[in-house]
Amino acid sequence: MSDSSGPEARVAAEAVTPVFETLVVVGPGLIGSSVLRRAQQKGTLARTLIAVDVSPEVRARVAELGIADRVMADAAEAAALADCVMLCVPVGAMGPVAAQVLPAMRPGAVLTEVGSTKVSVIEAISPFLRPDVAYVPAHPMAGTEYSGPDAGFATLFEDRWCLLTPLDGTPPEALSAVRALWERCGARLREMTPAHHDRVCAIVSHLPHLLAFTICGTADDLADETRSEVLDFAASGFRDFTRIAASDPIMWRDVFLSNREALLEMLARFMEDAQAMARAIRWGDENYIVDRIQRGRAIRKSLIENRQA
Ligand code: NAP
Repeated sequence: MSDSSGPEARVAAEAVTPVFETLVVVGPGLIGSSVLRRAQQKGTLARTLIAVDVSPEVRARVAELGIADRVMADAAEAAALADCVMLCVPVGAMGPVAAQVLPAMRPGAVLTEVGSTKVSVIEAISPFLRPDVAYVPAHPMAGTEYSGPDAGFATLFEDRWCLLTPLDGTPPEALSAVRALWERCGARLREMTPAHHDRVCAIVSHLPHLLAFTICGTADDLADETRSEVLDFAASGFRDFTRIAASDPIMWRDVFLSNREALLEMLARFMEDAQAMARAIRWGDENYIVDRIQRGRAIRKSLIENRQA
């Protein structure tokens, strides 16, 4: 029989004790409402859930959905009640919202956010940081093309990566708590520097979105007749681009502008490679074309094996 105070009992107790007493989610959109749904379903993320939104319509909808214990309009008022505040607003709003909530936060509380870019979000939040409030930047690599509180779902983060970019001064206990929160959302965790995060995300997420928006724009710019044929006959290739291109314009405007350097670097490399493909097509370089396609297939296969497809 196991000792009730031994490691097994401790693990069992940790599994049921909520990570936080009161979690405030500012911006209950796709990401924020998914965290709330997960927290509500599992009961192990926080004992009390508070959602904050600027819009009365969104607040009414969140209340109707019943995914938070309280729905509030004032971020600072809500932050004063929390031991964790999670900012789930567009990247460009992180600085102004942090400026609102940080002065109201309790000493010892944790501020975290889910922004898709890290260097500029950290720069935007840093001027408002306090020595007695820990800040843990995070980025759950999960999403869909939908937004708003109805778009979220509790399993969004399952088996997805959550990248954490702690700062030199991030207290280990705050980092552990945020790690535990994302683990309980079902995510896999990886830590890296903010600059490395931004380069990785530029290639795996931001550039693909840029390409999708651009190709749909190009199709839309074509003559009317051709455009209607694009819509009629779109095979799965174009259809897949349109799914990505349906993403929220404000969110993606902010992501592009706040990861400008890394994104432009990846775009330049992509354009060189696209030129090389164009050259291979022009000169009938079959080996080059086949090699590139095979590399694409290999990446897809690894993604499926890694359960990320
Ligand atoms: P979303 O569904 O559009 O939700 C955004 C939320 O932020 C909404 O509640 C919105 O309120 C609120 N908001 C917008 N502007 C605001 C402002 N100026 N001040 C205060 N609140 C504001 O977006 P999302 O997809 O959840 O993205 C939220 C964050 O997660 C972004 O930082 C994004 O980079 C990051 N992220 C997104 C994904 C993804 O694939 N979507 C993945 C990982 C991380 P209203 O609805 O009332 O306007």
